[in-house]
Amino acid sequence: MNMPVVPMEVLKQHLIDPEICIRCNTCEETCPIDAITHDENNYVVKADVCNGCMACISPCPTGAIDNWRTVLKAEAYGIDEQFTWDELPASKPLEEAAALSEQAAFAAEGDADPHALVSGALVPPWSAAKPYVNLYTHKSPLTATVVGNYRLTDESAPRSTPAADIHHIVLDFGATPFPVLEGQSIGILPPGTTADGKPHHARQYSIASPRNGERPGYNNLALTVKRVTQDHAGNAADGVCSNYLCDLKKGDTVTVIGPFGATFLMPNHPNSHLLMICTGTGSAPMRAMTEYRRRRRMKGATGKLMLFFGARTKEELPYFGPLTNLPKDFIDTNLAFSRTPGQAKRYVQDAMRERSADVAQLLKDDQTYIYVCGLRGMEEGVLQVLREIAEDHGLGWPALWERLKREGRLHLETY
Ligand code: NAP
Repeated sequence: MNMPVVPMEVLKQHLIDPEICIRCNTCEETCPIDAITHDENNYVVKADVCNGCMACISPCPTGAIDNWRTVLKAEAYGIDEQFTWDELPASKPLEEAAALSEQAAFAAEGDADPHALVSGALVPPWSAAKPYVNLYTHKSPLTATVVGNYRLTDESAPRSTPAADIHHIVLDFGATPFPVLEGQSIGILPPGTTADGKPHHARQYSIASPRNGERPGYNNLALTVKRVTQDHAGNAADGVCSNYLCDLKKGDTVTVIGPFGATFLMPNHPNSHLLMICTGTGSAPMRAMTEYRRRRRMKGATGKLMLFFGARTKEELPYFGPLTNLPKDFIDTNLAFSRTPGQAKRYVQDAMRERSADVAQLLKDDQTYIYVCGLRGMEEGVLQVLREIAEDHGLGWPALWERLKREGRLHLETY
C-alpha cells in the first residue's frame, strides 16, 4: 500500500541580523502587519505573520533587516530562539539550500506595493549623492576624538519640564575616512554593560553637520544630543548614552559605528526646494541640510528653504540664536512653542496651517522635497495638515502623497 505523500513546505524566512541591528525600532514601526517585535536583546520577525511585503527593507538604516534563510516551514526559527541570538545562524550548505529554494513558496513576494504600505518614501531623491553605509560595525568600530562639546540650550531653561540640556558635540576622525551625507546617522557604543553583563547596544544619532565637516574641510561631524533624565512614563531615569555623551570632555575618545541611512537624504540639484518640519533634537538633519545649502548658496543654489520647528520654549530650542540670524531670503523659518508661560500651546502643525498658502505653493512644485524629523507623535499630525493644505488648494492628497513617496520627496524619521 502506498503511503500518502506529505508535502514538505519550505519557507524563505525573514530574519534580522543582531550583529548589525542598531535597535532603532524603524522596522517594527514600519511593518504594516505587526510581524516584527523585540525584547531588551533583539528585534525579531514572526515567521507565521511576515508576508514578505518588503515594506521594512528600505527604511532600515543598516541593512540588518535584509536577511533570509531557506528553511522547512515546520523548522522555522521561533521568536524565543531569535531573542537569544548574538549572531545569525549559519546558512544551510549550498546544495541543501538550493534544493529547498526550488520548493520555496514566498507567498507575497512581488505582490504587495511597499510604497502603498508606508507613510514616507522608500527611495532617496533622484539627485542625492551616493551614501556609504556600515563602513564601521560592532565588530570593527572606529574611535573618534571629541573636539567640542557645547551646551546649546539656555542654562535657565526650566528644569522641571524636564531639564532641556541639549548639547552640540563635535567628533573628529583624524586621518580615517568617515564619509557622510546630510540626513544620515551614526551609532555610538557607550562604554559599560547592561544589568545582565552584556555590552550596551549602539545608540543612533542623526548627523547635524554637512558632508564636508562641521568645520569645512575637516574630517569631523556634529551631533545634537538631549540629556535624557526621564523615561517615557515620566519617571526619573538617566539615559545611558545621552548622559555619557553630554558629559564628554574635549580630547575624550568615543567608539563609533556607521554611517547609516540611504533614503532620508537631500537632493543635490541646486533648484530643489526643502520643506523641513521638526521638533526638538529632530532638528539635527535639518541643521545639516540648511548648513550645506548655506555653503552652496554662495555657489549658486537657488531652491527655497522653508522650516517649521517646534520646541517647548524658546530657551529649549536648539540652535535658536544661529537660526534666527539666518537671512530671511535664504530660509523661511517658522517657530512653534508649546509651553511658553501665558501663551496658548502651539505645535508645528499650527504654524503650517497659518502658512498654508505658501506650503501649498511648495506642494504644487515638483522640485519640493519634504523632511519630517522628531517625535513619533508629530508624524500623524503633520501628514494630516499636509492633506488639509493640499485639499484646500485643489491638490488631491492621496495621489500627491503616493507620488511624493514614489519620487523620494517625502521623508519621515520619527522616534
Ligand atoms: P520634546 O522637547 O519632547 O518636544 C519638542 C516639541 O514637540 C515640544 O514643543 C512638544 O510639545 C512638541 N510635540 C509633542 N507632541 C507633538 C505632536 N504630536 N505633534 C507636534 N509636536 C508635538 O522633543 P525632544 O525631546 O527633543 O525629542 C525629539 C525627538 O526627536 C525624540 O524622539 C528623538 O529621539 C528624535 N530624534 C532625535 C535625533 C537626534 O539626532 N538627536 C534625530 C532624529 C530624531 P509638548 O509641550 O506637548 O511636549
